[in-house]
Amino acid sequence: MVELTFEGVEVHAAEGQTVLSALEDAGIPLDCACRAGICQSCLVQSLDAPPPPAAQAGLPRAMAMDGYFMACVCVPEGPLTIGRAGKARQRLDVTVRAVERLSPTVVRLLLDDGGRFQCHPGQFLTLIHPASGVTRSYSIAGNADGALELHLRILPEGRMSRLVADDLSPDDVMTIAGPSGSCFYDPADRDQRIVLAGTGTGLAPLWGILQDALRHGHRGPISLYHGALDRSGLYLVEALESLEAERPGFRYVPCLRDAEDPAGGDLWAVVSELETDLRATTFFLCGDELLIRRMKRGLFMAGARLDQIHADPFTPAQARAAS
Ligand SMILES: Cc1cc2nc3c(=O)[nH]c(=O)nc-3n(C[C@H](O)[C@H](O)[C@H](O)COP(=O)(O)OP(=O)(O)OC[C@H]3O[C@@H](n4cnc5c(N)ncnc54)[C@H](O)[C@@H]3O)c2cc1C
Repeated sequence: MVELTFEGVEVHAAEGQTVLSALEDAGIPLDCACRAGICQSCLVQSLDAPPPPAAQAGLPRAMAMDGYFMACVCVPEGPLTIGRAGKARQRLDVTVRAVERLSPTVVRLLLDDGGRFQCHPGQFLTLIHPASGVTRSYSIAGNADGALELHLRILPEGRMSRLVADDLSPDDVMTIAGPSGSCFYDPADRDQRIVLAGTGTGLAPLWGILQDALRHGHRGPISLYHGALDRSGLYLVEALESLEAERPGFRYVPCLRDAEDPAGGDLWAVVSELETDLRATTFFLCGDELLIRRMKRGLFMAGARLDQIHADPFTPAQARAAS
């Protein structure tokens, strides 16, 4: 048994139990979605002893040094005094400005934050439906005009998908928290070659990064690869094709799987064939979890610099295991 103190309340964690699970057993609610140490929605801070390094994997060095960690993957080795993530995480209520279809399967959700939520397009946030408590991560496709833009793929059986597609209306209130992630444009890299690659709504962060790069007057070449099973999986096609026609140095490459040849059109196969100058390129990879992990590994093995590969795999949320 390990003794924890959370915001002054004593909590006991059984041997091998995670901090998140111990808090839930004690009736203390904490935002959480992936339960795999990826989405950072359960970020908390140790106020005394250093947490196990495995619970800090992927956090910026400064946050790790300040004792932040992910409760879902933290199996405490000794007593910890824990607080909510405080300054490292904003949390606010926002109102729905619009819910619009971008394609038969993708919805654009605009949330009015009045410009209060400090974030970079391309990062991700935690979206909470207050009435049901459903909590999921979504990438930020834009943050202009006092609103945050999210793109949601509507899964027929998905809990957040159905809430957004069927129930949400303008002026409804949602809660957001975050932001997290290192997928965003750095204006210091204005002459850098950039490759944006993703599947499905992995386009959301890539679209945000692209708009941000253009807003900052990016001068280097940019290629955007969007993978989908077939044409119906693509969206924002017209906007991307117009941009390609107007802006020299921008290339848009839709990658569609070929029914005759399953290997044809594979996003990774196309990127690895067309991109040759890997060491001089910054990569942003978002979308399907397995593919994005495969691409990150493949790019690194082929010579890309690890610190120039920014990847956000869309790890699905996990429900709490029945105890
Ligand atoms: C860092 C990060 C960023 C993300 N950004 C986005 C984003 O910008 N847009 C977006 O649409 N999603 C994004 N996601 C995924 C998102 O958090 C949800 O997992 C997704 O919207 C499904 O939630 P749901 O409640 O509708 O479905 P759930 O109720 O969670 O799942 C319903 C069923 O669908 C399955 N399922 C869940 N996800 C998938 C999938 N991708 N493919 C196939 N089956 C699946 C589940 O296993 C379950 O069986 C992101 C995830 C992470 C970790």
